[in-house]
Amino acid sequence: MPPAQVPDKYTWDALRRVYINDATGKVVTPWQQRQIGLRIVNKSAAAMKQLAEDYVEGAASFEEWAVGMREAVKSVHSAMSQFAYGGKAQMGVAERGRLGATIRDQYKYLSQFALEVEAGRVEVGDALIARSEMYGKAGWATYQDQVGHREKHAGMDEERSFLEPDADHCQDCFDEASIGWAPIGSLVPIGSRQCVARCQCSMEYRHSSEAEDAGAGEAEDAGAEAA
Ligand SMILES: [Zn+2]
Repeated sequence: MPPAQVPDKYTWDALRRVYINDATGKVVTPWQQRQIGLRIVNKSAAAMKQLAEDYVEGAASFEEWAVGMREAVKSVHSAMSQFAYGGKAQMGVAERGRLGATIRDQYKYLSQFALEVEAGRVEVGDALIARSEMYGKAGWATYQDQVGHREKHAGMDEERSFLEPDADHCQDCFDEASIGWAPIGSLVPIGSRQCVARCQCSMEYRHSSEAEDAGAGEAEDAGAEAA
């Protein structure tokens, strides 16, 4: 299974915290960036699904499945963390530490999962395949979490939950999105909602001073009404 990787045709602009497309010299838009990220996550999930199918069909052993899953888990969370920070070189001690903690947590879930499979508590069929696939999808929550830390570190103090168009959304995701801008860290994180690892929502960030224009507009309207 090839490791999950961020395409190398993008260069990180640390000041603006955006990628530049090397071929066009243009800034990668938030939409494009989400598609690149989702592609990495979906590719990883597809590889884990394949591994599980191989095991179910007898083409791979239990050990091959378990070891392959561990490698794929490490790979997807590493790739998505690097993607959030603009590359491995931009990751300091704190960033690498957060990634390490995420991988350790995922390894714990995976060990538990493997024990359940060994004990015959998980059907070696569709249930195992579906659960294996989710370990890849979980890379999205890691990406969102790392972006959140990056933006907070950059001084942003507000966040907003964005519903990915064309994705399935759970009620939690609709509720969080309907709140609009809120203090950073106050919304339910991506991956901790009803849809868990299936979530494809994103968090957007801004500094509250950027909201002053909108606020001033409202005040003017109120003044006009009073007059
Ligand atoms: Zn969602």
